[in-house]
Amino acid sequence: MTLYVGVALVAAAVLLFIMQPVVRGLHASLEREDDELTETEARKRVALLALRDVEYDFLAGKLDEQDYRSLKSELTAEALAALEADEAARASDGASSDPDVEEEIARIRDGLRSGVVCDDCGFTNEKGSRFCSACGHALADRVAR
Ligand SMILES: [Zn+2]
Repeated sequence: MTLYVGVALVAAAVLLFIMQPVVRGLHASLEREDDELTETEARKRVALLALRDVEYDFLAGKLDEQDYRSLKSELTAEALAALEADEAARASDGASSDPDVEEEIARIRDGLRSGVVCDDCGFTNEKGSRFCSACGHALADRVAR
């Protein structure tokens, strides 16, 4: 009887030992969301949120077009720089990060880098766009990249 209890205890201890990094890893990745933002992650987040706010403010009529254009180009440059800094920091950490996050970063970065900026209104359209989705201006002669 005591033998079985002992075996069970050892098995439980071994299982805990094996699971430890998994549990710790899960915990760390959850905490990272709010508490352990690195400097570059925070900068990236701020830049992207600011960029989004500018869009909303312009659509809501809180920004005039001139302010919108200058803010947008300023923040786009900042967001790009922040994305690249964050990526560089990740690479030097050697940290394997969430592939979904990686994918989203790549998507945002490509959009910012190779998006077609409308000559008429300054809106950054998706790569390959032929007409501005904000004002309808033809973008056909502007090749992305
Ligand atoms: Zn436009």
